[in-house]
Amino acid sequence: MKKQHPNHRHVKIHRSYSVEEIAKLFSVHKNTVRSWLKNGLTTVDNKRPMLIHGQTLYSFLQVKRVKHKRPCEPGEMYCVRCRSPKAPAGDMAEYQSKTDTLGNLVAICPDCEAIMNRRVCLSKLDEFRRYMDISIPQALKHIVESTQPTVNSDLL
Ligand SMILES: [Zn+2]
Repeated sequence: MKKQHPNHRHVKIHRSYSVEEIAKLFSVHKNTVRSWLKNGLTTVDNKRPMLIHGQTLYSFLQVKRVKHKRPCEPGEMYCVRCRSPKAPAGDMAEYQSKTDTLGNLVAICPDCEAIMNRRVCLSKLDEFRRYMDISIPQALKHIVESTQPTVNSDLL
C-alpha cells in the first residue's frame, strides 16, 4: 500500500521546522521534504540549517492535497506514466464493466502510449461519449441501452 498524503493538520503553524523535523513529523524521507522545497515549498530565509515556517508548510501541504484530489476534466483520463490527465489517443476508449453499474474506461495515452484507466459509473457513460468514442463489449449493450429513456415506442 502507498503511504497516505502528509496531513497538513499535523503542522503547528506558529513554529518553524527543519527538514529533519518535517521528515520525522510525516515519517517521510528527508529527500521527500527536499523535493517539496524544489516544488514550491519556501524556507524562512537562506540561512543554514534551512527552516520552514509552519504556516508555509501547512498551506503547501493543503494545496498539495487538493491538487492530488483534483478529478480529471470530463473527457480526460489520468496517465500514471506522464502523471497528468490526458484526452485519450484518437478520442477512443473501451468500457470494461466491473459490476452492473460500475466499470473502467480504458484508453491509450496520446503521448507515451501507456494504458490509462478511469473508473466510471455506467450511468455517466453518456457524459464521456461527448468527448470520445466508447466501445462497449457486446454482452453489455443491452444494459447500456436499457438505461436510455425510450423516446418513441412502436407498440403504443
Ligand atoms: Zn502518458
